[in-house]
Amino acid sequence: MSEPLLSVHDLKKYFPIKSGLLNRTVGHVKAVDGISLELGPGETFGLVGESGSGKSTVGRTILRLTEKTAGEVKFKGIDLHKLPSDELRKLRPKMQLIFQDPYSSLNPRVRVGEAIGEALLDHGLVPKEEIRDRVLEVLESCGLSSYHIDRFPHEFSGGQRQRIGIARALVLKPELIIADEPVSALDVSIQAQIINLFRKLQETRDLSYLFISHDLSVVEHLCNRIGVMYLGSMVETASRDELFRNPLHPYTKALLSAIPVPIPKLKRERILLKGDIPNPANPPSGCKFHTRCPYATAVCKEQVPAFRDVGGNHFVACHLV
Ligand code: SF4
Repeated sequence: MSEPLLSVHDLKKYFPIKSGLLNRTVGHVKAVDGISLELGPGETFGLVGESGSGKSTVGRTILRLTEKTAGEVKFKGIDLHKLPSDELRKLRPKMQLIFQDPYSSLNPRVRVGEAIGEALLDHGLVPKEEIRDRVLEVLESCGLSSYHIDRFPHEFSGGQRQRIGIARALVLKPELIIADEPVSALDVSIQAQIINLFRKLQETRDLSYLFISHDLSVVEHLCNRIGVMYLGSMVETASRDELFRNPLHPYTKALLSAIPVPIPKLKRERILLKGDIPNPANPPSGCKFHTRCPYATAVCKEQVPAFRDVGGNHFVACHLV
């Protein structure tokens, strides 16, 4: 892999649980519990797991929208969590976040052109008189029309609103985009259009994506490498092709088995997981997945499996592998 644009090492984010009259810390929610990943220029890393696995907190902690508990995040070799706030602010345009629901981050009374251009104004990146042209250019890149610039958010469909969300990120000419469930609120046909847009923009603008999704089928066609998270920890990472061809962790196998396939004879046997993801404030002992794993043995309840390379840069945390 080329020199990483983003490198995350043993990242942890614990949220304190406060209780009592004195508001004492009585425990921690270990939302992110030692995540490492690397992302090269022009590459896409897919971060996958159920709701509650800590994926979104990884994204927000990487961008320092929330402070880390431990670990290291480097963007182009710069340790983001050690930067003074004024230096971090200068770097912000290069690292953008796209949300699942762009509508919630758009002011309904502000026209779309203004909403897209305001970050340019805030960061003083473009003279005021050039902002409209930059916004028009980015609208067109995102498959919207010039007349959309003067419309209000409620006049757009879900897919168009996500295009606006992408345009808002893109107008700052970022190098890294963290896309947090950017298509999960959309119909399947619109999802495909938005994923194609992400792909096209990556080709034309040399963007790197950290693409967060609960759905492996969404990241399948976009990512070079995929990491599967469970309860704050990475349980498996591999190249996209390797992960789909040879999934090793029982949790990854369960996620893959849930993907619908068009040809029935290619269908994997569906693995149904018992129950819900446990409470991260009180995670199970040993392998955190043992309460739901169909292959759990006594050792799984006692010992945390090492996250190790099983060959070909394929990492997995499971006693059976
Ligand atoms: Fe299942 Fe045990 Fe492997 Fe955990 S370590 S995934 S419980 S077999």
